Amino acid sequence: MTQITNHLPTKELQALDAAHHMHPFTEGAALARKGARIITRAKGVYLTDSEGHQILDGMAGLWCVNVGYGRKDLADVAARQIEELCYYNTFFQTSHVPAIALAAEIAKLAPGDLNHVFYAGSGSEANDTNIRLVRRYWDVKGKPEKKVIISRKNAYHGSTMGGASLGGMSPMHAQGGLPIPDIVHVGQPHWWAEGGDMTPEDFGLMRARELEAKIEELGADRVAAFIGEPIQGAGGVIVPPATYWPEIQRICDKYGILLIADEVITGFGRTGNWFGSQTMGIRPHIMTIAKGLSSGYAPIGGSIICDEVHDTVAGSGDDFNHGYTYSGHPVAAAVALKNLEVLQEERILDHVKKVAHPYLMERWQALADHPLVGEAKLVGLMGSIALTPDKATRAKFASEAGTVGLRCRERCFANNLVMRHVGDRMIISPPLVITPSEIDVLIERATKSLDECYAGLKSDGLLVAA
Ligand SMILES: *Cc1c(COP(=O)(O)O)cnc(C)c1O
Repeated sequence: MTQITNHLPTKELQALDAAHHMHPFTEGAALARKGARIITRAKGVYLTDSEGHQILDGMAGLWCVNVGYGRKDLADVAARQIEELCYYNTFFQTSHVPAIALAAEIAKLAPGDLNHVFYAGSGSEANDTNIRLVRRYWDVKGKPEKKVIISRKNAYHGSTMGGASLGGMSPMHAQGGLPIPDIVHVGQPHWWAEGGDMTPEDFGLMRARELEAKIEELGADRVAAFIGEPIQGAGGVIVPPATYWPEIQRICDKYGILLIADEVITGFGRTGNWFGSQTMGIRPHIMTIAKGLSSGYAPIGGSIICDEVHDTVAGSGDDFNHGYTYSGHPVAAAVALKNLEVLQEERILDHVKKVAHPYLMERWQALADHPLVGEAKLVGLMGSIALTPDKATRAKFASEAGTVGLRCRERCFANNLVMRHVGDRMIISPPLVITPSEIDVLIERATKSLDECYAGLKSDGLLVAA
């Protein structure tokens, strides 16, 4: 692969970056001292940095580059659309072909009567839409007091005021006065960390019934909706026990509250089906989508809305007073449509189900034999491993949470593998097109990193249970 040479030396880029570019979810001063890693190009599952390292991207960017990097067909579609119609809005009774064609395609792929798409520029924006949409729905139904949305602790639903309020990340709530009113959180189905002596099945039921208790406490006449990721992503790739989602579905049905599945990560093949809701057996009224919708080639998100909610809000006799300049942006929509075509024509979901998942599953689960690894989880191509000083008791480390995870991530970076840490849990979400031989490279680098991390913990006296 040819190297781009027409950019500044790494040190100069890092200095400019530190001087003028404020990074998301980053301690600026620490990054300025260290210098950012600068990615210059990418192809397939590999990134290239400004020093020429070839890094296997075990996270598909931020869980989004599902068809892999550097596809010319997606680039061509974007270029063509920019020439033909670079922008027009979808306000004021106007539409355009890419927004229409993409909505029709999404409606075709989505299960049941999820037949309507409201576009946003990102997952966060789409969840802001959802907050307004479900409250508007109950208004029109003559139940304006149904406003409360119930979510889970350690959920991730984005970073806008609405998205971060729906999310259950306490470090995010601590900055900027969140959550906004009428959003409450119940416990997460995280058996490894919080299940104590219960079986996973009993624990899953217990956590689902926290939703029922919360509805009873607030009164069903005040609750608008429940929102959850079918599988928590940013929280640590937490796969709920099998008992959890059926019980949540039962409770939502019983009390007549809307179910929102945040499919931003789990949508479009990540779990081996089109949607994580299908994998987990749930029937949401609304799905949040973004990330894999365009494989990250263009920023686009949205809400897929069922007939009942759509028809009620659309038929209210009033405008739905909500929208974004870039709702249904034609270039992003054209790229997303092509991405959905690629997923279908190249049978990428079949590849996940029949090739990549089974092979990675075998090799990922074998990591649980490593002395540092407690459990290894994988659904489709999203996986996690729990690092622990004592597998038998599922013990946490004595060091501050995340210390060991960060050390492990640093070893991964040094070994040219992107694997992320959430506390002391390591997570992966590689491009869906990853091949068995690329999976071998991923596992080889992960194993080397775990070995080096383990040796370092031993010599630094950190292999100690809390
Ligand atoms: C990433 C993510 C979001 C937010 O999407 P953005 O495009 O970053 O705004 C929302 N929900 C889930 C489950 C996500 O993983």
